[in-house]
Amino acid sequence: MLIDAHCHLDFPDFDADREAVIARAKAAGVEGFVVPGTTRARWPDVLALGRRDDVTVCLGLHPYFIDQHGDDDLQALDDALAANPQVVAVGECGIDARFSESWDAQWQLFDAQVRLAKRHGLPLVIHCVHTNDRLAKRLRQLAPPHGGLIHGFAGSPSRPRPLSNSASWSGWAERSPIRVPSACSVPSPHCRMTAMCWKPIALTCRWPDTRGNATNRHMWPKCAGR
Ligand SMILES: [Zn+2]
Repeated sequence: MLIDAHCHLDFPDFDADREAVIARAKAAGVEGFVVPGTTRARWPDVLALGRRDDVTVCLGLHPYFIDQHGDDDLQALDDALAANPQVVAVGECGIDARFSESWDAQWQLFDAQVRLAKRHGLPLVIHCVHTNDRLAKRLRQLAPPHGGLIHGFAGSPSRPRPLSNSASWSGWAERSPIRVPSACSVPSPHCRMTAMCWKPIALTCRWPDTRGNATNRHMWPKCAGR
């Protein structure tokens, strides 16, 4: 069974053609979708999508949108997790080292969400950009018992496994600092990532690591947007 484990189908970018996007993904063999939360304001749309049989949802506070998170959003997340047992994970949370000005705030928010995941007995969906070693160290310290999925991890494909020796982790070894070009809106027939390229927005479409990570290059041999 093929599941898209990380897609932001709640984003307004999909308002015009969400059903068509899902239909195309299903035609390509994707049977399920995991939609992470990003901001408190978006949680209602995420939860609404979760009423579909083919969508499961997570709630969290994404570091990319750090400026949009309020002081009481963590308490709201705690309450929302308690009130919505259909939520399968806490996330998307994590660290994005491109935004160094909010570094301390990102770590505080991440730590708090790991604690919430532990309290609610849930796994985590983690956004990890250019901070692999430090995030791995923090996870070993906090030891969330239910593991999760690491998104944006830019290290070796073998690396997510030892992120925690007490939980199950998986990750996708790619991330690029560049935006996705519009050419990817028409996936190449040779692109092996077609199912992830059906809508090119910055946080969902994949792109090769441009910093010379040879491990990832073979995955996009003839991507149309390259
Ligand atoms: Zn995401």
